[in-house]
Amino acid sequence: MNTQRICIVGDGLSGLMAALALNKLEGLEVHLISKKNKHSKDKRTTAISNSNYEFFNEVIDKLDKKLFWPSKKIDLFYETKDQNMNFLNFNEDSKNLMYVFENDKIKKILIKEIKKKKIKTLQKNINELKDLDSYDMKVLCLGRSSKIYQSIIGKRSLDKDYKEIAITGYVNHNLKNLNTAQYFLKEGPLAILPFSKNNFSFVWSVDKDFPKKDINLIVKSKICEVLKTKKIQISNQQSYPLMLNLKRTYHKNDILILGEGLHTVHPIAGQGFNLVLRDIKKLQEILKYYTGLGMSLKSTPALEDFTNSRKSENIITGIGIDLTHNFFKQNKLLDPFKETILKNISKNNTLKKISKFISNQGLSI
Ligand SMILES: Cc1cc2nc3c(=O)[nH]c(=O)nc-3n(C[C@H](O)[C@H](O)[C@H](O)COP(=O)(O)OP(=O)(O)OC[C@H]3O[C@@H](n4cnc5c(N)ncnc54)[C@H](O)[C@@H]3O)c2cc1C
Repeated sequence: MNTQRICIVGDGLSGLMAALALNKLEGLEVHLISKKNKHSKDKRTTAISNSNYEFFNEVIDKLDKKLFWPSKKIDLFYETKDQNMNFLNFNEDSKNLMYVFENDKIKKILIKEIKKKKIKTLQKNINELKDLDSYDMKVLCLGRSSKIYQSIIGKRSLDKDYKEIAITGYVNHNLKNLNTAQYFLKEGPLAILPFSKNNFSFVWSVDKDFPKKDINLIVKSKICEVLKTKKIQISNQQSYPLMLNLKRTYHKNDILILGEGLHTVHPIAGQGFNLVLRDIKKLQEILKYYTGLGMSLKSTPALEDFTNSRKSENIITGIGIDLTHNFFKQNKLLDPFKETILKNISKNNTLKKISKFISNQGLSI
């Protein structure tokens, strides 16, 4: 069997990880295509589960562990009339629950690894899919809003505009023992993600009409109020529009969509890239099976197998996150009962165990 060629288009976290994971397979030659003249910096962090951290270690030789900040504890708070009520804590003594990394630092590591592995990289803007005709399989990791997807699968997706933005940024602080936490505040959920001893990132999802004037001051005073501190410095503040988009078709012939283009979910649960990593792991497994049999990928149902094994988890997770988001959104009818519901949740150990398991492994057992 001749070597088969796969191209990965897009050099975001999804494209870079997919290129490295598929390059591990024998009999495949992977090419990575990235856009020309890109200048945007990704000054965000990403939280990944323990099992996805293990996958990172499988894909990258000698991963620099210092770039992944571990968390053994996650605290959840709900803003009531007079306090932020701590309604749930996830603890793990023996292993870490999750790891937080800075996107730009990890992208640099992935690019370095791609160079080390001599994966061919090409710089061009792909506007027409016929430019990719010479490849046996094409994997499009073009982010959440590329128009190219429509030309492949039409409009087959579940869509929702949250009419919200996520305000993100880095915070330097001198607090002791700061845990990873999520505060369900009246204005919207605020996630606190430590990524080094004196730094954490935040993601605050608020209404899209949130006042633009004095936004930096408002954000700073909210974080100070929540963490009961006065001494913080904020940098790299950015904002992202929020939407739900769950594709119902994943591929056409030998062209596959992967990454945020397949499922864009609300960041409230920090699950977007976790789903992508599970997708990549499954794709690697399926392609290994067919190439191992010496089959030409074009003549196998590999992408159909991939769709069948990943679509239900991705859709259920996306909808589950949407329901969680709806529950915590201000709602005159539900608000009087939320405190009692949350107090009962905190007493339910089975529910805690299930949520911990799903956040780590996903739904495919
Ligand atoms: C505020 C926020 C916080 C988040 N936090 C978390 C978290 O804590 N945990 C988690 O698991 N997930 C999180 N996510 C989700 C996570 O950020 C994404 O899943 C992840 O960044 C993967 O993105 P991607 O590579 O698929 O897309 P992108 O990062 O958008 O990359 C797409 C790439 O395709 C390239 N491209 C586009 N068009 C073309 C073209 N025509 N030709 C060539 N190249 C092209 C672009 O230049 C870009 O490099 C968060 C998302 C948001 C918005």
